[in-house]
Amino acid sequence: MDQTTSTPTPTEVDTLNQSARAMYRAMSADALPLAEEACRKAVSIDYRYGFVEGLLNHARALTLLGGYQEAIALMRHSLFLGEEYGFRLHIADCQQEIARAYYTLADYDTALMYWASCLDVAVVTDDYESYVRAQIGIGQVHYVHDEFNAAYLHHQKAREHLERVTDENLKAAILINTGLDLCQLARYDDALSDLQAGLVHARNVGNREYEAEAAGAMGVVLLEIERLEEAEAALLAAIEINRKHGNLWGESSNLLALGKLKIKHNQSGVAVAHLKDALLQAQTISAPQLSFQIEEALSMAYESLGGYREALEHYKKFALMRVEILKQASPHKLQAIEMRLQIEKARIENADLRKAQATQRQALRRAERMASQDNLTAVHNRRGLEVAGMHLFKRAREQGQPLSALMIDVDHFKRVNDDYGHPVGDKVLRQIATLLKSGCRQDDIVARYGGEEFTIVLPGRDANGASEVGERLRRLIEGWRWSRVQDGMTITVSVGVAAVEPHMDFQALLERADRMLYRAKTEGRNRVAA
Ligand code: GH3
Ligand code: MG
Ligand code: MG
Repeated sequence: MDQTTSTPTPTEVDTLNQSARAMYRAMSADALPLAEEACRKAVSIDYRYGFVEGLLNHARALTLLGGYQEAIALMRHSLFLGEEYGFRLHIADCQQEIARAYYTLADYDTALMYWASCLDVAVVTDDYESYVRAQIGIGQVHYVHDEFNAAYLHHQKAREHLERVTDENLKAAILINTGLDLCQLARYDDALSDLQAGLVHARNVGNREYEAEAAGAMGVVLLEIERLEEAEAALLAAIEINRKHGNLWGESSNLLALGKLKIKHNQSGVAVAHLKDALLQAQTISAPQLSFQIEEALSMAYESLGGYREALEHYKKFALMRVEILKQASPHKLQAIEMRLQIEKARIENADLRKAQATQRQALRRAERMASQDNLTAVHNRRGLEVAGMHLFKRAREQGQPLSALMIDVDHFKRVNDDYGHPVGDKVLRQIATLLKSGCRQDDIVARYGGEEFTIVLPGRDANGASEVGERLRRLIEGWRWSRVQDGMTITVSVGVAAVEPHMDFQALLERADRMLYRAKTEGRNRVAA
């Protein structure tokens, strides 16, 4: 009680931040109020470091609640302040968390950009923990692209520092990641020993998330080498933790492994039950990468039960989904990633030479980023659109591929501001940007053209394809539960579509999309005009 009357001290703020961090690691929602209090107290005594740390902890806590977009905005703000004040370790922490958040949102390109920056800062500051975290992240980007050799290479770079690392959480992360890679590379014994060691570190600090991940992976390895009893015990342990923490992805993949195990045990009836559970969860979080494997396992389970009709049905679904997934994986993208990494690596290896230049380059990069990114929504701004859009436009022209643009304007947005206030208006714009990004392919460019108007450039789409995307996005926005932002609120958008025609330049393409948008507005709004 008397804490509110007496003046807080920096130590008090530090303690609050440490507790917030600890709560975050234990995946407890208590992290949020602690971080908020740290921020409040830090502001009241103008304690800058405490404030930027508090902001970052606040953002971390938001990720626990799934508010990634809002968290990223806070992290970027904390990063911005850290750069202003010159808190180097803090900068690295922010970049790390931003990269991790984008990774979770499956925006691997942006995640990679931030991790590359982390490597940069890590070299300048000799911050090996930051270096280790970045290598773990970069390896994971490779891992999700099924590039397991490359993933292992990066994770090994992290592992070289295992002895120096003091944070048990980080030790666990290193070993779990090398373990997962080794499992994919069919080096099961090595995988098992890394995972086992990772599990011990995770337990030392009560990190339940890592514990579940290590146990789940051990289950998979043990299943591969036919140590079925141990596999089952490991999987059940992982399921229990994941279930308790509502980690649907984790639980679903554990159940998939358990299903496979039951098939090996000739208990295909039980297997079907587990697999159906797994499928339901994978569908809840719309994870096709998991669903298609579950469909395959279901088909196998039914086959061994003699249910050939069901087996065939699941097999068909498996085959269809696999084709879809293969189509989505863009080899071009991965190549670009790998190329950029090569460049980053070359630069890291010249560390001494670079130290002097790095700070300068970082400032440049930051300026570049700020110049092409919209502050409110983190999508491209007008300049970003011109640079990136032009690039796609030229490439489409050279390759004779179609390209389209959408112009999207929020309907009666002035009323949103008038009825609920400008900050709510801002929130709506951020959410719309998120929805647009999540409804597009990674190669598409989403930009805020200005005010409440967005532009999307769609490489590879002709007028019909673009209209379909436009309609899908229109429905996505109309159907989102806007009452989460404000009771009783509804939001719709109007969309104009244009496809490139011969002799049309990029500017003319946008102008045409804009005319179509005007038509959508005059024809009654909440519609797509092409
Ligand atoms: P229409 O359906 O014809 O598009 O109607 P509208 O009200 O959306 O269009 P109008 O152009 O009259 O108003 C746009 C409003 O968007 C006015 C402006 O205050 C608001 N706006 C522009 N930029 C921002 C922003 O960054 N944040 C917020 N909250 N509002 C913004
Ligand atoms: Mg409008
Ligand atoms: Mg407008």
